[in-house]
Amino acid sequence: MNGSMNKYIEEAESVLLHTYNRFPVVFDHGKGVRLYDTDGKEYLDFCAGIAVFALGYGNEEYNNALKAQIDKLIHCSNLFYSVPAVNAAKELTKAAGMDRVFFTNSGAEAIEGAIKAARKYAYTRDGNTDHEIIAMNNSFHGRTMGALSVTGNKKYREPFYPMIGNIEYADFNDLDSVLNKVTGKTCAIIMETIQGEGGIYPAEPEFLKGIRKLCDEKDILLILDEIQCGMGRSGSMFAYEAYGISPDIVTVAKAVGCGVPVGAFMMTQKVADMSLVPGDHGTTYGGNPLVTAAVCEVLRQFREKDILLNVRETGEYLYGKLDEVAARYDFITAHRGRGLIQGLVFDNDKMPAGEVCKRAVSNGLIIITAGSNVIRFIPPLVITKEDVDEMIGILVRSIEND
Ligand SMILES: *Cc1c(COP(=O)(O)O)cnc(C)c1O
Repeated sequence: MNGSMNKYIEEAESVLLHTYNRFPVVFDHGKGVRLYDTDGKEYLDFCAGIAVFALGYGNEEYNNALKAQIDKLIHCSNLFYSVPAVNAAKELTKAAGMDRVFFTNSGAEAIEGAIKAARKYAYTRDGNTDHEIIAMNNSFHGRTMGALSVTGNKKYREPFYPMIGNIEYADFNDLDSVLNKVTGKTCAIIMETIQGEGGIYPAEPEFLKGIRKLCDEKDILLILDEIQCGMGRSGSMFAYEAYGISPDIVTVAKAVGCGVPVGAFMMTQKVADMSLVPGDHGTTYGGNPLVTAAVCEVLRQFREKDILLNVRETGEYLYGKLDEVAARYDFITAHRGRGLIQGLVFDNDKMPAGEVCKRAVSNGLIIITAGSNVIRFIPPLVITKEDVDEMIGILVRSIEND
């Protein structure tokens, strides 16, 4: 680190609440799959702002779509209609195979909405107020109180007890463990289709299909959190498509606006008919013309640029290359993931994953961890095989520390 970055970092640490241990880098601008710091140093980006910037930095069509909307109308509140919100709603529900959508400002808010929608559905059905939700151990759903309550990691929850009530935790990919938690009060089961923060664990097909069947039999709502693994990252628009099942409620955020704060929870008409009505839920900013114009442009680029094909082809190439790296080092104990959401598991006693990420960043490659011992690869969805080759070179150099 040199130049002017030190000054900004010192200032930041004197005024921002210290809730992150940040990398010592101040970013200035981006182009394609590369970011540049305020000293002009270039970085290859395999983080994408945590699975957000799917279409690459300095994307001219995206920037122009947003600029045009800024000049027209940025915000008008949800007391009125706007054209971008209508178009985004039509296109996003179509992409997800859902019927209804509510736009939020973040992923955590999408989870809050999904929880409320599920509880209201059950309340409308039987009038009871003691419904239960089953969440998964090792899951991550966000930092607000409701989202935290369904996050299966006690370390994140405990300082903030009490959580919202009636949440049970089961083991992901263990159908019996879920069956053991089901009672007559269970109204919903919530999980990520591919666990992200927990260490890149895809749901096993038999598990997810079993959960779907269980939910159908008992009128329990299946909430799939696709905030990280959705929007094309797994190789299909939504990760659940690959399982041949569909949830009752789905949450999205991160890449859905590619950088403007927008998320959504979507549901089937069946759920909507018995769920949230005027007075039950709201948001001032949520789904305003600016962010929904971004959603429309993102979905347009997915359609017209065949982003999914690139994810599948480059994802497979990345899989092969990471397998080779894993085979070379005995401290890399597993390799998991699909498409462009993959993880290498490190034996932290021999080679700490976090240390490798730090070295990589100083070597001009942005990679981050998931959990404490997994390096996660979640690049922009427009990366090429050449970018993968370059990444592998820097990764190996960072592992070997030369
Ligand atoms: C990031 C994430 C969230 C929370 O989203 P925020 O926008 O940070 O509130 C929820 N669920 C999953 C799976 C995520 O990856």
